[in-house]
Formats: sequence, structure tokens, C-alpha cells
Amino acid sequence: MGSFGVYVHIPYCLQICTYCDFVKFEKKDLPPTDRYVSLLEQEIASRGPHVQQTIPSSIMHSLYFGGGTPSLLSPSEILSVIQALEKQGFQRASGAEVTLEVNPGTLTESSLDAFLEMGITRFSVGAQTFDERFLSVTGRKHSVGDTVATLELLRDRGAHFSFDLLFGLPGQHLADVRNDVRRALEYGPKHLSAYCLTLPEKHRLNKGRAPDDEQAQMFDLICDDLAVGGLVRYEVSNFAVPGFESRHNLLYWSDRPYWGIGIGAHSYLPISPWGVRFWNPPTVRSWELEMARTTGMAFWKDFEPSASSRFSCTKPSPISHTALRSTRGLIDTEVLLKFSSAFPDLPREIERRALPLLNEGLLVRAEKPDRWLLSKAGHALADRVFEPLTFLKDEV
Ligand code: SF4
Repeated sequence: MGSFGVYVHIPYCLQICTYCDFVKFEKKDLPPTDRYVSLLEQEIASRGPHVQQTIPSSIMHSLYFGGGTPSLLSPSEILSVIQALEKQGFQRASGAEVTLEVNPGTLTESSLDAFLEMGITRFSVGAQTFDERFLSVTGRKHSVGDTVATLELLRDRGAHFSFDLLFGLPGQHLADVRNDVRRALEYGPKHLSAYCLTLPEKHRLNKGRAPDDEQAQMFDLICDDLAVGGLVRYEVSNFAVPGFESRHNLLYWSDRPYWGIGIGAHSYLPISPWGVRFWNPPTVRSWELEMARTTGMAFWKDFEPSASSRFSCTKPSPISHTALRSTRGLIDTEVLLKFSSAFPDLPREIERRALPLLNEGLLVRAEKPDRWLLSKAGHALADRVFEPLTFLKDEV
């Protein structure tokens, strides 16, 4: 799969949700959206040619507008970004996946028509829960009625959509989660992401949450009920009707290149020897200043590992962890191909560390191709698996 994707970060939000750690701001705290769009166009024009030098082809197999709340931009602003990419030679492949994240209540009939017209192929809806009691604790401004109206609008137009469910919320129990999954399936989604609420230890929302074993049961229930509804898990938190997996997210989990534009956006480009990860500054002002400073440069050269925390060379550990998150798994031949010159013993070293996890029932060994996979128990305890499969450079 020789895929490449572009991620565009749109940081505007109607509210700041109580649990969120994405790079985002309330709309009133950012420059007007047309100013942000012109900075995106500037980044595409100045950095695009350098990105193109690193990738085999600038055909985009996926384009993802994430946030924040991208649907707070007008359709014409989203179209301007697509056109700026195309002007720079980043054409969409035939059948490319183009995703727009949508907050319930921000889509109208006419904006949906305009998004469909410009080639958005997939809408990802931040539903979170169908229960007003739990929605209110997240701090989101939309109501369950807004979620239902947005899902009905998408369904009635025949649009492909995914949505997010959040579980492990304060006061939520198994029966509530079962009800959320039942309501979700009523809309016939082809893709769904289910996330357990993750918070720092002293966060106020930890009060009243179900104990860990009940949260694990919630996740099992979600997996089982979604499977009955035809959605199969293909990553730790993601489920799809076969054939409707998120192609953009698969780039992240299968070591493919992507370019992230906008504040805080992450990139991974196939720069020798194993690829380079870097990310943009987290505020509009610092992003703008960095763009001005690096105009005309292959800007990642400026990010020396010792000088910047926004740069890292890809090493075996992140590859192992991201590969294990998906049901493709960690494939022996891919590890060997990527790292054989520097770490010829790596597959054997992985095996040495993986065997105790296999014996504990956290990993599974599969064939054709030979690979390691997380077991059902391993999905629930992924961090326990990742820890021994973390390789410091001088360990391998
Ligand atoms: S709308 Fe999304 S990005 Fe914005 S604060 Fe809420 S969870 Fe975070």
C-alpha cells in the first residue's frame, strides 16, 4: 500500500469540553476563520514543495479535516484549503477518503450539500453519548436532539458517517453503555470509535466513575454488541463494517507517510533512514512565526533532536506500538525490511520479549504473514504489552 495522506487541523471549538486534551481554542479566542485559512494556504504553498521531495507521489489517498470542530468553518473555507493543496500538486486519488469532523448541531442541509459537492466522502460526528445526563457532564454545548438531527440529516442524504462514543463517564453503568450502543446502531453507522474517558488522577470527573473492572466490562459489551451489529474491531478503539475502516487512521498504524498542517498538527515523512516525525507549534502566533522563519527551507532540518522536543526519528518502539494497535499486527517481514541494516537481530529480540506476553495470554502469534497481535485481554491491557516492547536504542 503506497498511501499518503494529509491532515488539516482546525482548532476552533464552540466550547472547551471538560475532558479534552486536543489542541483547541474557543472560537472567540482565535483569529477569524478566514485569517486561519489564509495561514493554512501559506503553509501549503511554502512547505508543500519540500514535503513533495520526500514522498514517492503527492497523490493524496486520504485527506482529513480534524479538530477542534472543522464544521465551524464555512464550506467555502474548507474548499479553499482543498484547492490550495491541489494548486500545489496534492491531487486527490480516485476514490480518496476525505473526512470532515462534525460537531452535532453545526451542520445544516445547505452546508451538507456543499460539503458533499466538494467531495467530502466521510463525516465523523462527535456524538459521545445519547444520554442527556452524561452529555452535560462532558461540558459539550450540543444536546442529544442535535446529535439525532445531525445523524438523521446524514443518513437521509445517504452520506457515509462515523461517530464517537465515550464511556466510563461519571455515574454511567453497564446498562447505560448498552443503551448508547443500541441507539448508535439504529443509525446504521459503517464506522464507530469508542473511547474510555481518560483523565489525570486528580481530575474532578473521576468522582463517581465505575470501577476499572466495570469499565473493562463496558468495553467488552461494546465490542460484543457492535460485532452483532456487523462492526468489527480493527484497532484498539475503532470498529467498522469490513471495507469501511478509516483509511486515514490506517496510515498512522501501518507506518505510512502523512503531512499535518495547521497548529499542533503532526507529520511523519519518509526521510532517511527510518522516517521523521515532527509537529507544529500549538498556538497561531508561534506557528505563524515559525513559518516566517523557515520559509523556503526544508523546515524539518531545523529541528535537531537535541534542540527541539517537536522532532523525533522513528525507532522500533513507536513502530511496534502503533502496529500492535491495529489488527494487521506487528509483521516480522516489515520489521526486518525497515530496520535490518541497523538492527538485524530485531525480530529475534521482539520474539524474546513477546514470548512471556504470549504465555500470559496478552499476545497472539498469527501466520500468513507471520506476525504478533494483541489478544482480547491484551487490548484491555495494551500499556502492559507496550512496556516490554519498548526498545531504547542501545538495548537492541
Ligand atoms: S469539541 Fe472536541 S476538540 Fe473541542 S474541546 Fe470538545 S472534545 Fe475537544
